[in-house]
Amino acid sequence: MLTFKPNRTALVTGAGRGIGKAIAESLARQGVTVICVSKSADSCGATAAAIVAAGGKAKALAVDVADSAAVSKACEQILAEHPVVDILVNNAGITRDGLLFRMSDDDWNAVIQTNLTSCFYWTKHLARPMTRSRWGRIVNITSVSGIMGNAGQANYSAAKAGMIGLTKTLAKEFASRAITVNAVAPGFIKTDMTTEFVNNAEVSAKILEAVPLKRFGEVQDIAAAATFLCSEEAGYITGQVFAIDGGMAM
Ligand code: NAP
Repeated sequence: MLTFKPNRTALVTGAGRGIGKAIAESLARQGVTVICVSKSADSCGATAAAIVAAGGKAKALAVDVADSAAVSKACEQILAEHPVVDILVNNAGITRDGLLFRMSDDDWNAVIQTNLTSCFYWTKHLARPMTRSRWGRIVNITSVSGIMGNAGQANYSAAKAGMIGLTKTLAKEFASRAITVNAVAPGFIKTDMTTEFVNNAEVSAKILEAVPLKRFGEVQDIAAAATFLCSEEAGYITGQVFAIDGGMAM
């Protein structure tokens, strides 16, 4: 049983599908009002509608998290309606895999911008009111690739490792205001991002050789950890990286 004070508001990026959707739904079940952000209006709209249909409170906002001006405009709009967003979950992410010599500048930049720089944009805007209210939770969804590295993912591993550095630094900068900043590092979780691997028997058998628990993760495995880190009970945890990966990064 976790504690969430009444009238908490959260913003979850990449809430249209997969892990972000599960986190948004899980926070909403705790009574939190959730602002669901994704690139397409349809996907964040569907998540918000599902939350409302289940009796929760949510709204949807289509924002390209890689676009500084778009994030700035969205935050202005959000903060006009909500004096503070208490919980920020930076989850939106993409992959554009390839070995280094074949990786284009576009693939490098898109992955860094969407996974890493977006965290800087959202945090910069939303943490200021959090500091004034002297309570906040920031959870960054990184990856085991950012801890261990992964051949074919130079852009993604660099972005995810960057999120870990950002997490630890902001944990130090915001600690005096009772804002905790933590990272969750999923292993292989069954979502649209991994369908290609999970549905290929040969590839999935190879991946599972490296997973001591011998199964792919479910989105709820990540949502449970993220929700705990946003609760009152997690108030003494900051600057940490939690690998939720079936033991892969041990
Ligand atoms: P997913 O199913 O592909 O969903 C990604 C979500 O991010 C979608 O809602 C998408 O919006 C949104 N998004 C992508 N680019 C965006 C942009 N520029 N602006 C706004 N929203 C954007 O991914 P997932 O598997 O749930 O992954 C979620 C996070 O976990 C990512 O950061 C990923 O790197 C990380 N992760 C995943 C795994 C895994 O095994 N699945 C493992 C480690 C880490 P639309 O719905 O509009 O397309």
